[in-house]
Amino acid sequence: MLLDTHGRHITDLRLSVTDRCNFRCTYCLDPGVRFLPRQELLHLDEYVRIIAACMSRGVRTLRITGGEPTLYPELDELILEAGAMGLDDMAMTTNGWAVDGERARRWLDSGLRRLTFSLDTLREDRMKEITRSRTSVKQVLRSIEVAREAGFPRPKLNMVVMRDVNEDEVVDFAQLARDRDLDVRFIEFMPLGSARDWTSKDVHTARETRAAIESRWSLRPFDGDHAHSTSVNWTFADGADGKLGFIAPVSQPFCGACNRLRITAEGRIRPCLFSHDEWDLKPILRRGSSNVELERFLIDAAWNKQSGHAIGEETFEQPERSMSAIGG
Ligand code: SAM
Ligand code: SF4
Repeated sequence: MLLDTHGRHITDLRLSVTDRCNFRCTYCLDPGVRFLPRQELLHLDEYVRIIAACMSRGVRTLRITGGEPTLYPELDELILEAGAMGLDDMAMTTNGWAVDGERARRWLDSGLRRLTFSLDTLREDRMKEITRSRTSVKQVLRSIEVAREAGFPRPKLNMVVMRDVNEDEVVDFAQLARDRDLDVRFIEFMPLGSARDWTSKDVHTARETRAAIESRWSLRPFDGDHAHSTSVNWTFADGADGKLGFIAPVSQPFCGACNRLRITAEGRIRPCLFSHDEWDLKPILRRGSSNVELERFLIDAAWNKQSGHAIGEETFEQPERSMSAIGG
């Protein structure tokens, strides 16, 4: 099994399949960032081999991410192959620019169970400022509806809440959850942007976000959260549709319950989002090593997972990689 020195059992794999993205979100990816040369990225058969090796060592759930995973040319094949491997759950996070009905149905038929969309504003002018892209809010909302029509159950929507940027929209997002029966997740802004300009003052805490929403509606704790849930979830006390989740990695870290291992698009294992040490799988994969060697390497990497991220402590140092180059 994949265990660490703090007694945590790794059962969830976050696999990034590309470092590329068509957005340049201000909190994630600086316009000047250079992507890796294509030959540095792993191939489809290597991603599949990694998933299989992780599963032989107890991983049960997979989240496909990036960069923007829909830019990975072999995404559909990866979902098809991973879908046949007997995972308990397979999910994907996307910025929603390229989800059409036919593709969404194919993903669902291949075994993708859940889709999470990222959207930080409902205002078109702000969308341009935050994502530095031409994708509209309307387009992302349409993708969410397309996913639902294709058969994905209640899509999730991630909003990174930033002080003086979009904090004034949290009630609008809660309204959207009610109107469209969405599972909206409010995420605290973390020091993971390539611009490296995070300050704790920019963080609008989960507590503040919930208070703003509760000034409008009463909320009721959701009683179905599982032990490794990153979000604390609530429903509307008046029985309206929709669910709200608050993810507080900065103000209320949940590292003690972390069961995740991250692997970057070029095959570096990062036991923690905030790891400074990486474990390079590529040489193992490319020098013809056996599955046993591959699994031993994964076991060693997991064993070295740090206890927590220490954001806010004097010793904290932001990792070199941005969220887009790690995989969120
Ligand atoms: N491109 C896809 C997307 O945006 O959904 C997948 C990758 S993105 C890195 C995964 C998630 O990380 C997104 O929901 C994004 O909002 C979140 N994220 C990126 N940078 C972040 C930061 N500095 N703090 C908090 N969340 C962040
Ligand atoms: Fe791209 Fe997602 Fe990062 Fe935005 S958050 S720049 S969409 S990887």
